[in-house]
Amino acid sequence: MWNIQEFTEAAGVTVKALAEYVDESQRGAVPVVRRRPPRELADRLGLRDLIQKGGMTPGTYREFLRVFLAEGTRLHHPAYLGHQSASPDFPAALADFVHGATNNPMAIYEMGAAAATVEFEVLRWMLAKVGFPAGGGVLTHGGSLANLTALLAARARAAPDAWEDGVPDDLVILTPPSAHYSISRAASILGLGQRALVPLETDSLGRIDAARLPDVSGRRVMALVASACATGTGLHDDLRAVGEWCREHGAWFHVDGAHGASALLSRRHAHLLDGIELADSVIWDAHKMLRTSSLAAAVLVRRESDLDAAFRQEASYLFYGDQGFDLINRTVECTKAELGLKIFMNLAWRGEDGLGDYVDRQYATAHRFWELARRRPGFELPYEPESNIVCFRYGEADQARLRELLMRDGAFHLTSTELNGVRHLRVTVMAPATDDRTLEALLDAVATV
Ligand SMILES: *Cc1c(COP(=O)(O)O)cnc(C)c1O
Repeated sequence: MWNIQEFTEAAGVTVKALAEYVDESQRGAVPVVRRRPPRELADRLGLRDLIQKGGMTPGTYREFLRVFLAEGTRLHHPAYLGHQSASPDFPAALADFVHGATNNPMAIYEMGAAAATVEFEVLRWMLAKVGFPAGGGVLTHGGSLANLTALLAARARAAPDAWEDGVPDDLVILTPPSAHYSISRAASILGLGQRALVPLETDSLGRIDAARLPDVSGRRVMALVASACATGTGLHDDLRAVGEWCREHGAWFHVDGAHGASALLSRRHAHLLDGIELADSVIWDAHKMLRTSSLAAAVLVRRESDLDAAFRQEASYLFYGDQGFDLINRTVECTKAELGLKIFMNLAWRGEDGLGDYVDRQYATAHRFWELARRRPGFELPYEPESNIVCFRYGEADQARLRELLMRDGAFHLTSTELNGVRHLRVTVMAPATDDRTLEALLDAVATV
């Protein structure tokens, strides 16, 4: 049994430590990243002893947590410009805590009626945002699994017998080479193999060239995949043009909105998703731009029955039903976490407009970085950013090495990517604390390391 007093004390230690951690992180008072070798870290954290002997108390926990937090990567830090993981907001963090204590795995209604109902209503809200009034959805542990689930629904449409008989060999998936790698993985996992991937013509920045979509006569198109936005560049495919082509050709239109769908909440940027309502399926990660911890992603389909067909289930959940509903028939997972709760908590606290303002702010900061960098000699910026992702090069040096130098003392955390076969540095503005001072400091550092 829990010792309630011990729990209360340990939880208090946690809140105090996290408050200090986020405070010093968002002030930029400490390095954004530490990369101590694992052997040394294991010693510092006393891992082996604790694993073997246990015996942690609120006192030793306090010390453990201090080191653990200090040795991690700080996503609230202004110089955190790395991967697209959310700089989590605290309401969602509270939801994670509640989930940890209650563990109501919500795929089955009777295992957590409140959590399941929260997921249902969050999905209903997301469906309305995307423009699927008669749609259905489910939350999954991440965008990769969401893409797989959506493409499974597409497969059920193109080849309804595939579930029983296996996959026919004339199915193809049309996708730009810049699509996230989980799309090509899904092709193999679904049994189509890499040979089923037909690369679409793109412009020089990897965007689908809607004027040069292929002649598909004689082939069975299982799905066409567009990105909103592409992971590498943060640029958006023309969803309306591509979506209209799909309608004409009877092709399933899948929009990978893992990163960019949150811009639906922004008055200024929602136009980037114009045409999304033409999609048959959409995925949307909350753990990127809706500020929840990893992972919480949505699969959304325009016709609810398509999602049930994916796993050969016939039930429909448009209405609650008297006894509740089991979303387990729509997911690869059997047990799930209370994913809806963390999305709900951010919405409940900040409102749809508050989350939209966050998107606006991050996109504006990335644009500002582009403006500042463009004015400086030696910086090459291949495109004007549309989102909070910007790619650039500085000089002729090895850009991967440049990145190592910038990260060495934990001054900055950024990534790199290849564009047309050329390595670029890549900045993703995730933390609300990132400001002009951070951007100027990064540009200074790039030019001097
Ligand atoms: C991040 C991302 C994914 C994968 O999502 P995970 O939640 O990391 O599995 C898929 N597609 C795009 C466009 C992404 O940016």
